[in-house]
Amino acid sequence: MFKSDLSKLCVHTITTKPWDLEKAIEKYVSNGIQGISIWRDAIEGKELSFVRSTLERNEMKVVSLVRGGFFTGENLDSRKMSIQDNLKAIEDAAKIGAEMLVLVCGATPGQSLEKSRTQIRDAIEELLPFAENNNVKLAIEPLHPMYADSRSAINTLYQANNLVEYFDSAYVGIALDVYHVWWDPDLEREIIRCGEKNNLFAFHLCDWRVPTRDMLNDRTVMGQGIIDIQEIINFVKNAGYSGYHEVEIFSEQYWSTDQDKYLDIIIKSYLSYTY
Ligand code: ZN
Repeated sequence: MFKSDLSKLCVHTITTKPWDLEKAIEKYVSNGIQGISIWRDAIEGKELSFVRSTLERNEMKVVSLVRGGFFTGENLDSRKMSIQDNLKAIEDAAKIGAEMLVLVCGATPGQSLEKSRTQIRDAIEELLPFAENNNVKLAIEPLHPMYADSRSAINTLYQANNLVEYFDSAYVGIALDVYHVWWDPDLEREIIRCGEKNNLFAFHLCDWRVPTRDMLNDRTVMGQGIIDIQEIINFVKNAGYSGYHEVEIFSEQYWSTDQDKYLDIIIKSYLSYTY
């Protein structure tokens, strides 16, 4: 246990979506935050060597590029396009110095989840050599079952652990997000399992607002919802995790407010937990 400080705090660019990448870097650094996870829309159309030099000049650690995946599809062409897109994402992650690419694995309405899971496994298998060559890890993020219709057929940490263990590679692991897994009765056991095999690559923080008014963009700051954040932090710590704690919040409500004040709220919340 260490006294909470900001050395392991990472913020996702989507959290402060109204800021462009340059602004986000400037604001994070001036608040003592050195970790950043970059969403692909934040670097779209940008010269990546310039992005990288800006990050390096500011001594920022790029934890993740977010996000790849969406591997499923009813026809081969769409699945091939997804592979191409993920190859590009891996390449971009390497160019900006990101340690990993986060994968939202995909689900296709009208297709069985089992079939989607097979397509997901096949796609990761195809991408893995390229990821290894580029030294970019692939982090599978299990998503809450409410997204099983169209976003991910990987909905529990148990399923994600099984998938990751199938590959048995230092380049395939898990991005654990409290938002997606807080409800899981097997959570502690599966987090420990994940940690024991060195498969816990990333840890995402936010909170579940009650009532949730929108399935996508109504997350909130840790402590303002119903997730027992400290308990999950403890599970992760007991599993041997020593990586960054990434604040990833999609919130129409907070995006419409002053982002400086919002970042203050995030930092105060972050510091109220023991890591
Ligand atoms: Zn996440």
